[in-house]
Amino acid sequence: MNPIDPRDVVALKRDGRPVPEAELRAFVQGYGRGEIGDEVAAAFLMAAYIQGLDSGETLALTRAMVDSGRTLPLAGISRPKVDKHSTGGVADGVTLVFAPLAASLGLAVAKLSGRGLGHTGGTLDKLEAIPGLRTNLSPEEIEAQVERAGCAVAAQTPDLVPADGALYALRDATATVSSLPLIAASVMSKKLAVVTDLILLDVKAGSGAFMKTPEEAGALAEACIALAAGWDRRARAAVTDMSQPLGDAVGNALDVAEAVEVLRGSFRGRLRDLAVTFAGEALWLLEGAPRSEAVARAERALDGGEALGVFARMVEAQGGDPRVADDPWSVLPRAPVVRPIPAARGGVVASMEAEEIGRAGVDLGAGRHRKGDPIDPAAGIVFRAKVGDVVEAGSELGTVHARGEGRAEAAVRRVAAAVRIQDDPVEPPPLVYRWYGEGGE
Ligand code: URA
Repeated sequence: MNPIDPRDVVALKRDGRPVPEAELRAFVQGYGRGEIGDEVAAAFLMAAYIQGLDSGETLALTRAMVDSGRTLPLAGISRPKVDKHSTGGVADGVTLVFAPLAASLGLAVAKLSGRGLGHTGGTLDKLEAIPGLRTNLSPEEIEAQVERAGCAVAAQTPDLVPADGALYALRDATATVSSLPLIAASVMSKKLAVVTDLILLDVKAGSGAFMKTPEEAGALAEACIALAAGWDRRARAAVTDMSQPLGDAVGNALDVAEAVEVLRGSFRGRLRDLAVTFAGEALWLLEGAPRSEAVARAERALDGGEALGVFARMVEAQGGDPRVADDPWSVLPRAPVVRPIPAARGGVVASMEAEEIGRAGVDLGAGRHRKGDPIDPAAGIVFRAKVGDVVEAGSELGTVHARGEGRAEAAVRRVAAAVRIQDDPVEPPPLVYRWYGEGGE
């Protein structure tokens, strides 16, 4: 096709007119190849953010991103193949647990993940906190590792969905993340580029998510399921609660250490419950195991150490130090300053601004402000209090992990102010609001 003037594509979207598929494709792939500059792409993203994309444009954007690289058919893997993706949350280490857990149950997991986006954490940043670990695996390396270790978690590369890799980083830097079609296309391009038997989606809803209500998250779930259907792929989505950090750890090394605790069976709570729920759904849909039995098998794989063993093998296969599975803090970087977060008053934890807690983590260095910023793998927050907990005035709600005193104190104040404590009891929110797609509600 003739070269496009990328400014024409921006102008169409700016004026709320439809962008034809061929133009959108040339624009997205041109940006992925570095032929279109950040300033024009940023203008397009903002126009798309404000004007939205219709379902045809969302499909075209997704297709352009999938086709910007190779696809990974995983034809040599005989085990049932499952992928899982979160739309982004705070203290959301589900993938770190789910991938080895599902592999320990006999499934194969080949997953392209993302980096921290906005106030949310990213699985790649978390994994890269493990010394030596590589996420830029080639398609061949991913397949060989899945065959050997049962699971691989990798990044977009020049080979795999490079256009999403480029746009993802630019969205993070331009306040254009929380757009339903942009999230749907970004998530699904990574899922559609890797051919698995089942896609599981964790669509977050609440103050720490990009979609603030279960209804908005439901619309995102439906958009993702529709994209999967366009590729004839099986997909199931849960809208899950993100009105508070899911686990306790907001950061990178802190998240890895927490995931190891879950994989060891010693951490109980919503993070474990959600990882087990997704593993149960995968066994149910791929192997026909009754759901309660599937969940019980997943619980046993955590408590018996099988999932932890697979995690160690995955880390080692990706060049990381496998001692992280036995003794995380013997290899993970630690922050020099650790400060308690005291409760402002006694009572019941009623609600929290999870996005604010995530932002405090980013400002400590756990995430990025500008494209390409380095992150501090040791920095972050451990926030243990959950909605419905009874706390005493001054008791420790969690801890801040920082490079310096000033940053630590600012984060302590910010996180303490993000928590609302009241006298009356509060019912904790459900873990899963609703299921969509394959398997029904
Ligand atoms: N995860 C992704 O891969 N992309 C998004 O846009 C949000 C979460």
